[in-house]
Amino acid sequence: MAPATVVIVGAGLAGLRTAEELRVRGYAGAITLIGAERRPPYDRPPLSKKVLTGELDDTGLQPDLGSLAVDLRLAETAVALGDGVLRTDAAEYPFGALVVATGATPVTLPGGGEQLVLRTADDALALRARLTPATRLAIVGAGWIGAELATAAAGRGCRVTVIEAAATPLATALGTEVGAQTTPWYAEAGVDLRLEAAVASIEPAGIALADGGWLACDLVVTAVGVRPAVAWLAGSGVLLDNGVVVDAGLRASVPGVFAVGDCASFWSGRYRRQLRVEHWDVALHSPEVAAANIAGGSEAYDPVPYFWSEQFGRMVQYVGWHGAADRLVWRGTPAEARWAACWLAGGRLVAALTVGLPRDLLQARRVIAAGVVVDPAALADPRVAIRDSPLE
Ligand SMILES: Cc1cc2nc3c(=O)[nH]c(=O)nc-3n(C[C@H](O)[C@H](O)[C@H](O)COP(=O)(O)OP(=O)(O)OC[C@H]3O[C@@H](n4cnc5c(N)ncnc54)[C@H](O)[C@@H]3O)c2cc1C
Repeated sequence: MAPATVVIVGAGLAGLRTAEELRVRGYAGAITLIGAERRPPYDRPPLSKKVLTGELDDTGLQPDLGSLAVDLRLAETAVALGDGVLRTDAAEYPFGALVVATGATPVTLPGGGEQLVLRTADDALALRARLTPATRLAIVGAGWIGAELATAAAGRGCRVTVIEAAATPLATALGTEVGAQTTPWYAEAGVDLRLEAAVASIEPAGIALADGGWLACDLVVTAVGVRPAVAWLAGSGVLLDNGVVVDAGLRASVPGVFAVGDCASFWSGRYRRQLRVEHWDVALHSPEVAAANIAGGSEAYDPVPYFWSEQFGRMVQYVGWHGAADRLVWRGTPAEARWAACWLAGGRLVAALTVGLPRDLLQARRVIAAGVVVDPAALADPRVAIRDSPLE
């Protein structure tokens, strides 16, 4: 039976989508949506793209909260959970079901100097105001956000240096062999990329490097990753391990508690492991499963993860999970404008990165989902459609 009251903590995309999906599934009980930020739900991907370039100011999702009949509590932070009650810094909320959708917060580095991060709309607007021509901007981290920020800042006339501890950009996300193919993009955009440069601390006038070096700059943005925003659940009995540990139905270890989006480490039947995916697509779709199960269903969430990034004038898309891959096949030549990297495991396509090839991405997604053995020669040949690469 569906609970009389659902409380959702975190008013980002995943939190809002949970409320929407509950109503889509006919849930007629009370829904309270609690968010720490003062803004109503908004979209984050444009923050490092069109908001920084100045093409967009507002990325609000503009939900019809009236027709959703959601009690929205903004600028309120959840602090504890216990005995069927959620406690915030303002009130207590008894619940029948609780959905944790608190997302993730940026990691910062040691040191007494100012370091900005890019997670919220306020972060993006404050940063944009400081991206003035000739500003010496240092970005720590050549991951997805670092690359997008470097693109926008270079476009605004800043003098951009990116400091990366790994041997290539995107090393954590893609591995160094594929990440290396993006190295030339930085120089092309006039960005100074310093690889294998570890940061010791952020200081008032610059960055102290671990090898004793010093980078003088006017502004530092730290973009070295995020961690799930779940510290407030400590002591609640909810199992935490790199986020809220949930099963395939997105149920946490405490009955009635669910987790969705960036903060959820869900059991993937497809990959036979817990997965936590910090991508928009998961925030969009995982709430469908949580809502269905709150409403009395028994659905499983088992996506082929998908992500996109817009950097240095290129559309970069990734689908799948290459953690268990044993072979890499290049499709086209990375020196060209359009190419792809395909990861195989046991002869099956398990992940693909495409640059400027959205159709390949879509086809790869279907082939990965089908879990079939593919012909590597067909995959490597851009004249053969990826949908025609399966051997089975
Ligand atoms: C700048 C930027 C660019 C991105 N670009 C892309 C992209 O191109 N492609 C892509 O796939 N993904 C991208 N992402 C990732 C994507 O935006 C996230 O995966 C998505 O926002 C996750 O949604 P969420 O609702 O799970 O978490 P969030 O969006 O983080 O929302 C969680 C909300 O919970 C609130 N909260 C936290 N703790 C508490 C608490 N204790 N009490 C109450 N409220 C709390 C937070 O303030 C926040 O508003 C980007 C992210 C950023 C920051």
